[in-house]
Amino acid sequence: MPRVVFVMVDGLRPDAISPQRTPNIQRLIDGGASTLAAQSVMPSITLPCHMSIFHSVPPSRHGITTNLYTPPARPIPGLIEAAEDGDKTCAFIYNWEELRDLNRPGMLSYSWFVRASYNIYTGDQQVTDHALPIIRDALYDFTFVYLGTVDSAGHFFGWMSDEYLDQAARVDAYVGQLIDALPSDAVMLLQADHGGHERTHGTDLPEDMTIPWMMYGAGVKAGYTITRPVSLLDTAPTIAHLLGIKRPKEWEGTPVAEGLVG
Ligand SMILES: [Zn+2]
Repeated sequence: MPRVVFVMVDGLRPDAISPQRTPNIQRLIDGGASTLAAQSVMPSITLPCHMSIFHSVPPSRHGITTNLYTPPARPIPGLIEAAEDGDKTCAFIYNWEELRDLNRPGMLSYSWFVRASYNIYTGDQQVTDHALPIIRDALYDFTFVYLGTVDSAGHFFGWMSDEYLDQAARVDAYVGQLIDALPSDAVMLLQADHGGHERTHGTDLPEDMTIPWMMYGAGVKAGYTITRPVSLLDTAPTIAHLLGIKRPKEWEGTPVAEGLVG
């Protein structure tokens, strides 16, 4: 089974992607399977979205509706718990600390955090620098790389402002380094959690809800545009499918098998 590297570019709108501005994300599109019309969940806010990504249920079921984590009355098993059950090792490398609550203690093999998502100049570089040897040496079955600064640029300057687009270009260079470090037998998923409009997000406007979603690497179709509807709920099932682990019955999404060979 391939190893999986999951890259999150927080707050990246699909219309910020172009061959000129984001040539490395374009490499994933040209060499992999992608859609620029995947859907976030309501409310389109970072922690609720990530809970849905890692637990394959909407916020109405996991109960997290703000960036403040509260323990659920009836917990739903997440991707990392499913990986643990399947004897897969998992790593988190991130720069926004609220994401620590995505996992229960004892689940991760490796975790590295720096509080830097608000530093648009070096915040994602620190994460990338730390992730590169871990990816290159294939140390874990699943590696989550969270890049938070594109969202910060949206909040500081406005979504699709010149500064926001410059930040997308800056982060694209880090994505290029991550792609270059990817072993030939591994798969990379890259997506956003939500988009944004003006200087905020969280609504059901298409600008907030529409996100890029792509996969690339071993066993993934090349240059393929995914035609089925894709949502945040489909990410964990797709990663579980790639890792060859069992999906908890509570999950609502399905693997995006359309983008895979065979
Ligand atoms: Zn976010």
